[in-house]
Amino acid sequence: MALEGIHHITAVTGDAQANVDFYAGVMGLRMVKQTVNFDDPSAYHLYFADEAGSPGAALTFFEYPGAPPGLPGAGMVHTIVWRVASAEALDFWKARLRDAEMSVLHEGDVLSFCDPEGLAYQLVVDASGEAPLIAESSEVPSEFALRGFAGVRAYAQQPAASGELLTALGFAAGDDDRSWLLAGSERSATLSYDDPPLDNARPGAGTVHHVAWSAADDAELDACIAEANGAGAQPTGIIDRQYFHSIYFREPSGVLFEVATRDIGFTADEPLDQLGFSLQLPEQYEQHRAQIELNLTPLINPRAGS
Ligand code: ZN
Repeated sequence: MALEGIHHITAVTGDAQANVDFYAGVMGLRMVKQTVNFDDPSAYHLYFADEAGSPGAALTFFEYPGAPPGLPGAGMVHTIVWRVASAEALDFWKARLRDAEMSVLHEGDVLSFCDPEGLAYQLVVDASGEAPLIAESSEVPSEFALRGFAGVRAYAQQPAASGELLTALGFAAGDDDRSWLLAGSERSATLSYDDPPLDNARPGAGTVHHVAWSAADDAELDACIAEANGAGAQPTGIIDRQYFHSIYFREPSGVLFEVATRDIGFTADEPLDQLGFSLQLPEQYEQHRAQIELNLTPLINPRAGS
């Protein structure tokens, strides 16, 4: 079993159009899929990624219109770390985000900011040597573009409790039990734990729902199920998510993990050059399309028709 870093990260938004405007506009990502939450088809599930919709660069959102802002706490990912190419790219993003009237903190090699709903990000200079995963954007030159995920930071009361499970899944411990690296043959990602704030976790808009690690196929999911069971977690069986197959479990520090496969992809139901242009529904919901569309706010994708 050799998981290849992060597959995707899923968060919550209270406003789908503002979300598209920020991620497909300001951040220069490509919206590669408009679909619904397969467990609740009244909610959008929007996917942003690089040009090809690659695992390692896919950031997704469930939309619950008007959802109150959440607050990350123990057992939640609180910051998503993205790679950029250079110190010049950090300068580009500092200026671009400030132009968008956002506050930005530039400390050393790290640029920190929050999206309009409070979801925290860091941009770091990419030292991985791994293939950059870049979207085409008329506003973000490719040399400054986001290159995929470096990792995630989560809050944990007792991060040592997660060590056995993380080791079983193939994570390697850093200098202490707070820093972990999941490295496959082509891609890697970090998982870091920080002390939680005093306030209780409050899921809501601007918080991460889960992080998905990247597996090759069902055989590797089966291996993960065995390893997770052996380490005391309670993984689900394999679930068909149309664009990948998945399992889910909470790791001992409380973070919701998914493991998702790379063997299907976003071209399962629409061609590469039209990814994200129109609402895609899995077979079980296609018969309810009219009702589902009635409940969803129509979206303007800046890339569609261009
Ligand atoms: Zn997911």
